[in-house]
Amino acid sequence: MKNKGLLAMGIALIVLFIGGCIAAYSLGQTKPQDQVKTKHAAQLPKSATSNNPNLILVNKKHPLKQELGFKKVEMNGIPVSQTIQEPLERFMHDAQSAGYPATLVSGYRSKAYQEQVFNQNYEQNVSQGMSHDQALKATKGVIQTPGSSEHETGLAVDVMTNQYWDKYHNLEAKSDQMAGQKWLIKHAPDYGFVLRYVKSPEGRKSTGIDYESWHFRYVGVENAKYMTKHRLTLEQYDQMIKDQHQN
Ligand SMILES: [Zn+2]
Repeated sequence: MKNKGLLAMGIALIVLFIGGCIAAYSLGQTKPQDQVKTKHAAQLPKSATSNNPNLILVNKKHPLKQELGFKKVEMNGIPVSQTIQEPLERFMHDAQSAGYPATLVSGYRSKAYQEQVFNQNYEQNVSQGMSHDQALKATKGVIQTPGSSEHETGLAVDVMTNQYWDKYHNLEAKSDQMAGQKWLIKHAPDYGFVLRYVKSPEGRKSTGIDYESWHFRYVGVENAKYMTKHRLTLEQYDQMIKDQHQN
């Protein structure tokens, strides 16, 4: 009787041990961040694919090796990709109708032109008394190194409310204090644009670029709304799309 009792207790302990292992394993399988990732991935829009040309990622880590071949059109003398002509015209037209006329300051830039813009900003910093290293750092904070500017895709534009542009003629973050710039930032996703370089520290870490209240990037309406809703930079979105394909 005593042996049988010990045997039963031994079996019970083994069962408990195995049960505990299974429970621990299951818990390990569903970490909270995995759940979030799966939830997002399942909800990604249909057009969120790696081969969608509107989602091309261009930054310091992904510089363009050569000029992209795409049809360019001019809007008020500013070249942009034909892809964004219609949505951009509607965006700016509707801003005007809402009482906030805006200026298209910059669109497509060639790599050569980007080089010129970069060098001019650097020289300006040096002339203001910065050392070579300081000037280079300051320039890199606001201007992409040639080859890594989104403006080379023709899908990125600098748009600023006339409330600010007409007065200061300068692209500055504080333009977002104007009602007109607020309107542009709020409504951009309805036309397929996202504010590319956001204010949050995580966003800035992910893009490597300081906040720009004027730089809008076309990604299509579905993607723009999704990215804005979930506060994702294009770098983060691109990673999610890649992760989705690996699953
Ligand atoms: Zn820009």
